[in-house]
Amino acid sequence: MAVPASMVAPRVEVSLDKIEENARVVVEMCRRSGTEVAGVTKVTCGDPEVARAMLRGGVRWIADSRLANLARMRKAGISCETLLLRAPMLGEADEAVRVADMSLISSVETARALGEAARARGVQHRVILMVDVGDLREGVPVDAAPDVAGRLARVEGIRLHGIGTNVACYGGVIPTHENMSVLLHLRDRIRRDLGIDLEVISGGNSSSIPLVRAGEVPHGINQLRIGESMLLGRDVTYRRPLPGMHLDAFVFAAQAIEVARKPSVPRGEIGQDAFGKVRTFRDKGIRWRAILACGRQDIDPEGLKPLESGIDVLGASSDHLILDVEDADREIRVGDEVRFTMSYGCLLAAMTSPYVHKVVTGR
Ligand SMILES: *Cc1c(COP(=O)(O)O)cnc(C)c1O
Repeated sequence: MAVPASMVAPRVEVSLDKIEENARVVVEMCRRSGTEVAGVTKVTCGDPEVARAMLRGGVRWIADSRLANLARMRKAGISCETLLLRAPMLGEADEAVRVADMSLISSVETARALGEAARARGVQHRVILMVDVGDLREGVPVDAAPDVAGRLARVEGIRLHGIGTNVACYGGVIPTHENMSVLLHLRDRIRRDLGIDLEVISGGNSSSIPLVRAGEVPHGINQLRIGESMLLGRDVTYRRPLPGMHLDAFVFAAQAIEVARKPSVPRGEIGQDAFGKVRTFRDKGIRWRAILACGRQDIDPEGLKPLESGIDVLGASSDHLILDVEDADREIRVGDEVRFTMSYGCLLAAMTSPYVHKVVTGR
């Protein structure tokens, strides 16, 4: 018997209507702070329907870190301007020029490869120079930025279109009025020294949303690149829900394959688990436990939050997710499903796992 699409498990249920509504809230909030929004699709592997929902919600650009995702969206007819968020490898320059309108880059070598590829195609490719204001992921140091900008400006085939920064990714540095203002000083210096008027000053990612809400985005920052906050409805610095936004645009569902009463502490000498960790256990006596048919290949157990109360995620091996269901409001049986919201990392795993079905609802 064929299983209806809404019942295949494990699955991620994607609500396009909720994504569109979240996008609209973010876009409106950013508009009031003078910034336009690039909707970031990378956590969905560049799903064209998600991109369309973001565009209906008012984002101006679609941005993704992977060329394969941008190519997928182009092929599906997404025709807005696109940003490549991660600098292409040198051998990818031609593909970058083909599927992206702009690339965020931080080295002159990349600029030269892009310039060459663009000239070969008879086009001009726009680049946004990334500047590191402290987070220590990509970007040239602030002091070096004017010099690098000057060198990029001399590369034929590309146009220095903007400068940008990214924080809260590697170092967890929080965006502030001060560290964003660094970009504006650089913009002025580039105008003065090189005579270039940069069109895009790209302030950051979802971590900038608290600044947006507080009305503290420096005047002159005109682009933000937003993924997580729009998709999961959360402030990413403290992972708090944002008012008026859906937290369940993505829901993970998996099916129980065993439900049994078991002790809460393993029997026998304790060594490392399947992932090299030595775990400790609290003795809560004999409890009802359920095993769901999914595991670390598909999800991050720490990032799953059950949608119903009385269920605790105990842990997962590669293919078994273990829940304590003793206090659940319903009796959970083999064959029943349990549904969860997800952290960004968990969503990333679920969307990337070929074992997880993606079931899209809405427009
Ligand atoms: C992933 C990424 C973003 C979006 O980050 P969110 O936290 O999901 O908003 C923005 N800019 C760059 C350069 C990225 O790599």
